[in-house]
Amino acid sequence: MGEENTIAQPPGGRNTPCEDGPMPPPTGRFAPSPTGVLHLGNLRTALASWLSAKAPGGRWLVRMEDVDGPRCRRDLGDQQLRDLAALGLESDLPVMWQSDRGGAYRAALERLHGDDRLYPCACTRKDLQLLASAPHGDEGLRPYPGRCRQHSWEGFERALRFRLPRGSANWVDLVLGPQLDDPEVLTGDPLLFRRDGCFAYHLAVVVDDGAQGVTEVVRGSDLRSVTATQVRLQEALGLPRPAYAHLGLVTASDGARLGKRAGALGLEALKARGVGLPEIVGWLGWSLGCLEAPMACAAPDLVPNFNWAKVPPGELPVPLAWCEGA
Ligand SMILES: [Zn+2]
Repeated sequence: MGEENTIAQPPGGRNTPCEDGPMPPPTGRFAPSPTGVLHLGNLRTALASWLSAKAPGGRWLVRMEDVDGPRCRRDLGDQQLRDLAALGLESDLPVMWQSDRGGAYRAALERLHGDDRLYPCACTRKDLQLLASAPHGDEGLRPYPGRCRQHSWEGFERALRFRLPRGSANWVDLVLGPQLDDPEVLTGDPLLFRRDGCFAYHLAVVVDDGAQGVTEVVRGSDLRSVTATQVRLQEALGLPRPAYAHLGLVTASDGARLGKRAGALGLEALKARGVGLPEIVGWLGWSLGCLEAPMACAAPDLVPNFNWAKVPPGELPVPLAWCEGA
């Protein structure tokens, strides 16, 4: 590994004074999957990414991560966009839908193949379950053990994996501080193209962040463990590295993940239980360190007080009163 891999890169290259003049304003994004209702955790991520982009005068984009086949629905995405707009969060450019981006993903695959970074994987789901009985990543992920690495190229009709380079990757997380991870331990060689013809998440997210000029990626801490893998993929595609911020997850009041109860903690359901939008924005803003205490407000009121140094890293339980009847 080259020496440059061990030197911390300034987040997005924008927080360091530059002798050549002011840095361009950042581009942030929020990238939900349109598979359900946005819950408070998703909305907190959206607001944090919006505040981080807007506080220094940057732009904020929304991208729909709908590459995951039939679970993704346009109508659910449209509802998510309405919920974001209700909070005052609107994309500064037309919303990008990943299902429209096949040509760009295919071009990235061809580039990686040209550099001999892809190989076909013949493993079935069952093969992978058997192989993955031992070590798991630190967040329960099962790293792909490289079983098919020696397979020779058979064309783009196969499932394709990215051949990770050896060694750890580092980055500076705006919430968690300096990070150093070995992607081989956390994910193993990631799947970029599936046998059913779908492009995989890692490929789409890296290609689109590059194409949209995204300089900061704000997302839940459940995705922290895939960051090193995505950094390696960016490097292989010659794309700049954005800054990363991984937020602690919002949990139910008993500490459980929101997952299945997501719908009960979306804007519509909260409104039906008497929780107003300004109250929700104020609670989210307080949780991000913008307010001393939760109080009703609008998103622009929070902008002057947003600072990553004040964002607490831990998990955050939803107020008990908001869960009642959920
Ligand atoms: Zn395989």
